[in-house]
Amino acid sequence: MIGVIKIKNFIIFLLLIILILLLPAAAAAEKDILVLHSYHQGLEWTDQISEGIRSVFPYQNEVKIYYEYLDTKRNFSQEYYDKLISLYREKARIIDFDAIIVSDNAAFDFIIEYGEELYPEAPVIFCGVNNLNKNFLEDQQDICGLVEKAEHRANLDLILKLHPALNKLIIINDRTLTGKNIKAELELILTEYEDRLNYEIWDSFTIPELQNRLLKMDQNNVIYLLVLNRDQNGNFISYNQGIEKIREVSQNPIYGTWDFYLGKGIVGGKLISAQEQGRQAALMAEDIISGENDFSGQIVDDISSKYYFDYNQLQKYKISQAELPADREIINRPQPFWERNYQFLYWGLIFLSLVIVVLLFVFYSKHQERQRIEKLNRELEEKVEERTKELRKMLITDDLTGLLSRRRILDLLEVELEKCRRYKRELSLLMLDLDFFKDINDSYGHQFGDQVLEKIGTILQRNTRKLDLVGRYGGEEFLVILPETDLKKAALVAEKLRQKIKNAEVTGRDFKLTASFGAVQFEKESSQQLIKRADDLLYKAKAEGRDRVES
Ligand code: GH3
Ligand code: MG
Ligand code: MG
Repeated sequence: MIGVIKIKNFIIFLLLIILILLLPAAAAAEKDILVLHSYHQGLEWTDQISEGIRSVFPYQNEVKIYYEYLDTKRNFSQEYYDKLISLYREKARIIDFDAIIVSDNAAFDFIIEYGEELYPEAPVIFCGVNNLNKNFLEDQQDICGLVEKAEHRANLDLILKLHPALNKLIIINDRTLTGKNIKAELELILTEYEDRLNYEIWDSFTIPELQNRLLKMDQNNVIYLLVLNRDQNGNFISYNQGIEKIREVSQNPIYGTWDFYLGKGIVGGKLISAQEQGRQAALMAEDIISGENDFSGQIVDDISSKYYFDYNQLQKYKISQAELPADREIINRPQPFWERNYQFLYWGLIFLSLVIVVLLFVFYSKHQERQRIEKLNRELEEKVEERTKELRKMLITDDLTGLLSRRRILDLLEVELEKCRRYKRELSLLMLDLDFFKDINDSYGHQFGDQVLEKIGTILQRNTRKLDLVGRYGGEEFLVILPETDLKKAALVAEKLRQKIKNAEVTGRDFKLTASFGAVQFEKESSQQLIKRADDLLYKAKAEGRDRVES
């Protein structure tokens, strides 16, 4: 039992040690920053500063941000101010802040006066402060920041350059704390422009009064709009309202110094960026709370200004972009066609490529198919042609002997006979048949018989004239047409052929090869009658003992 208690105590002790070790680490991870704004939430300037700060300390960061708004654009009575201070006194008891970022003059003045009392430990980083007396900070501990420096010189130069016909610059401002500070800054600079620039400062009016004055304005006047947050009677005017009221009655070009008027009707100018102010202050705060840097007493010059122009306004006043400073940014620029229709073009292109690929594929396979068919066609045609050639040859020549075919020799006989009839020419016809050829086939085989027939073809061809026509009439029967030949000569030719056949040598075999002949001369009869006579004589030759010529 005692042992168990001891172990339990030991575990509790161990857990306590771990907790004690972890505590400082946990404490170090969490930092609290108070952002004290001079104005109110919803004012673009102020919201943009918050956004700049957020860009350095995003929500998931271990730095917690608390916002307080003095709301002095709309409330500026001493009574309000007193109540505000007692409220903050109350609130300051709850959290010890690690740093305080103040934006704009009102909050800056507030912290100078009450910072020591309310947040004695916290270093202060300021931004958006105008007209700061730098000597003033020298004996201040734990305070640093960036001043907001309106680029009046750059803007006045720009206006003079872009509007050579300018006859008066109308400077519109208000009498808020900021307005007063800006005016003080600007008036110093304006002394440098006295010989070149005719100007008027309007800073005390009601809106109807302002509009009246604007209506009477010369068209060669240019407006330089500083801040317009309060009228003569202390009524708050938002940025939008301010410029809208001017735009309602005036067509004159307007230039500015802050980016919150950009896109609402000003041509442009070297503009202070609220976001950049917030971001720079937050970067300083980050270094201070992490112990990386101690900017105590340092004032960083404003580097947040940049040339900005509104494309629509440049068009309206026909200001060429070539006249603008090189390091400018132009808003509202119409997107190039391909940028505006990027999605459409992107998918369109993909779709088109797909269509092209598919079409190419279809064309390719069609082409392949056509080529295949064409090749097949060509081959077929070649085959047909070859066959036709063969057929034609087969029709006019005899395959085995190379002599004229039966058809051909009969056709030619008709032609020759016609010539004889017409020109009274002579013609003779021989018909011959091999003797006992069946026996040769029987003794030596059909193939050998063929060789013999081939041999006969050669003998007949070689031993007749070029003009004579030799053809195979049947199996081993032949016809020889002898044009310009009478019967006597024909009998002689037949005799010569008979001799040649008889003496022919056919490879290696020992047998008797003879032929019988019938010879006739044309006698104005038909071809059939002529052939019949030759055939009769051939029959006679056979009957008379073969190997002979009958005429
Ligand atoms: P003969 O004419 O003297 O009365 O006797 P034969 O033996 O020649 O008689 P027949 O006319 O009856 O026979 C012809 C033979 O010729 C029959 C056939 O076998 C042969 N013959 C016909 N054409 C061809 C051929 O193209 N090639 C071969 N090898 N033999 C053929
Ligand atoms: Mg026969
Ligand atoms: Mg025969």
